[in-house]
Amino acid sequence: MLGECHAHIIMDGKNYKAAVSLHKNGVADGPIREHLEAWQQAGVTFVRDGGDALGVSVRARELAPEYGIDYRTPVFAIHKKGHYGGIVGHAFCDRKEYRELVLRAKREGADFIKIMISGIMEFDQFGVLNEEGLAGEEIREMIETAHDMGMKVMAHGNGNGPVRAAIEAGLDTLEHGNYLEQDTLDMLAESHTIWVPTLAPTGNLLGTGRYPDEEVEKILRRQMNCIRHVFDKGGRLGLGSDAGAWMVPHGQGLLDEYAWMKQAVGPENTAELDQRLSASEKWIKKEMKR
Ligand SMILES: [Zn+2]
Repeated sequence: MLGECHAHIIMDGKNYKAAVSLHKNGVADGPIREHLEAWQQAGVTFVRDGGDALGVSVRARELAPEYGIDYRTPVFAIHKKGHYGGIVGHAFCDRKEYRELVLRAKREGADFIKIMISGIMEFDQFGVLNEEGLAGEEIREMIETAHDMGMKVMAHGNGNGPVRAAIEAGLDTLEHGNYLEQDTLDMLAESHTIWVPTLAPTGNLLGTGRYPDEEVEKILRRQMNCIRHVFDKGGRLGLGSDAGAWMVPHGQGLLDEYAWMKQAVGPENTAELDQRLSASEKWIKKEMKR
């Protein structure tokens, strides 16, 4: 079984607020063990978390060996004040504060640095993000600063501009990457950046009635076509389901993600896809470690 390269153990795939509140008086082992067990049952032996502000993913890393799982975490994610990302980490206002957060993550045992460079999709409207994202220059500096401090970088990014800037700056893994344009996809395919496109949080919305299926379908199809393009051009792809997001349970979410990915590249390419995904996982395991 392939590993889970993008998960949020602090969330439960059902109700974000309720899941987080279980840890409000200190990290609770119960829900963490429940999720680790779900992965164990699905045969998952590697998990990379996106981090949280409460220390839940750090505790998960401590408990994971009991479940035969190699667990990685950035401790918390880093976002710019006033921008998307507050639910998973800490904010900075200027470059000095950003540097301090990178140092803090390192000090607290981060396996890599997680940054937020843009917003998320509005699932009721194809083509729309809840915010534009950070300026290219700032994104470049964030990635270079983390690299200079010896840390690899995982970036949450959607939208063409921010993602393009991140790839140009030598980003290590790109998460989501919705709404990329052709030239950026070409650049991505030729770069060393591993793309973890997280189809499950979109695909698993279909038929739930939470958003209009027609819009969700358009978002999903577009992303699948982009994946196919990068796959055909020989790009590096990684498997990560964004487990913990609504309708993406830990364990099952990864199986769903794999099914969506196979569909994106075409069932005839499964063997090549497996090879590509496991090569990316191998790289992440080796390089994104404290
Ligand atoms: Zn995520």
